[in-house]
Amino acid sequence: RKSTVVITGASSGVGLYAAKALAEKGWHVVMACRDTIKAQKAAQAVGMTQDSYTIMLIDLGSLESVRRFVNNFRATGKSLDALLCNAAIYMPLLKEPLRSPEGYELTMTTNHLGHFLLCNLMLEDLKKSSASERRLVILGTVTHNPDELGGKIPPRPDLGDLQGFAEGFKPPISMIDGKKFEPVKAYKDSKVCNVLTMRELHHRYHDSTGIVFSSLYPGCVAETPLFRNHYPLFQKLFPLFQKHITGGYVSQELAGERVAAVVADPEYGQSGAYWSWGNRQKKDGKSFVQKVSPQARDDEKAERLWELSEKLVALV
Ligand code: NDP
Repeated sequence: RKSTVVITGASSGVGLYAAKALAEKGWHVVMACRDTIKAQKAAQAVGMTQDSYTIMLIDLGSLESVRRFVNNFRATGKSLDALLCNAAIYMPLLKEPLRSPEGYELTMTTNHLGHFLLCNLMLEDLKKSSASERRLVILGTVTHNPDELGGKIPPRPDLGDLQGFAEGFKPPISMIDGKKFEPVKAYKDSKVCNVLTMRELHHRYHDSTGIVFSSLYPGCVAETPLFRNHYPLFQKLFPLFQKHITGGYVSQELAGERVAAVVADPEYGQSGAYWSWGNRQKKDGKSFVQKVSPQARDDEKAERLWELSEKLVALV
């Protein structure tokens, strides 16, 4: 039988090209998207064959929608062999926070809490798979890490003592550290949470289940619509800057191939790893396991984030 992967946010950018690459490797791709018509058009536009994918609705900005998606997936009777948490929003120009139906700040909900709930629920499905190897991969990013060139630009991520989560994360609270709303920091904080979640999944479940948990930075994919909410001039100059000045630029196709390799290829079977191809793209650059940022490798923080997130998504 074909292996099945669920990919969140497969209607655009990295997720779409990862879907295409996995379909080409012979996987069946469940494209978990908030706009199913857009997803359909996107799959056709990149030339995915009809039988290589199924589109299913999920809105990661709503915890109820995440639960509904899991039920709908189970109703299809498909086996889950890999889960790729890729969807994210980045809204740098917001002045006031947007909110999920639960009242939580939307960037953190979409990027972290929605995926945290999805991972916890779908762990059961991964456990049931009879595939020889099952993987759960969460997209990271260089901006999670101030030790790296690409992570030095302020505002830097800072989860503080997670006071915002501890106090319930509802208005007037909008940031995980309980401080003033800062949309760029909200994105970076959420990506630190993604890496912490991957590492805590590894600690809790790798030995007992054999599931491989990993994360990666595919390079700076400067032309994805992730930057659609930025100033138009930024959208024009950013790819050029990354291509000619920093050397960080990778195409959406190449990023998609890298992500697909981490999901499917035998050489990426290390659990707890964070894969990178470096900040500067060298010709034929090879991947390596990269050290994550001090916050993202803080085991105590990972555990506390897990416990507080469990409460916020009503798993406990
Ligand atoms: P895009 O904006 O192109 O894609 C994001 C995807 O997430 C889209 O499919 C979008 O759906 C989906 N999405 C957004 N909100 C929701 C939601 N509430 N529910 C379901 N799906 C949602 O961004 P990228 O491809 O660039 O980013 C993908 C991942 O790669 C992210 O995790 C990002 O952090 C990471 N990344 C990106 C880098 C880059 O340079 N671009 C670098 C490093 C990591 P829709 O099409 O409907 O908007």
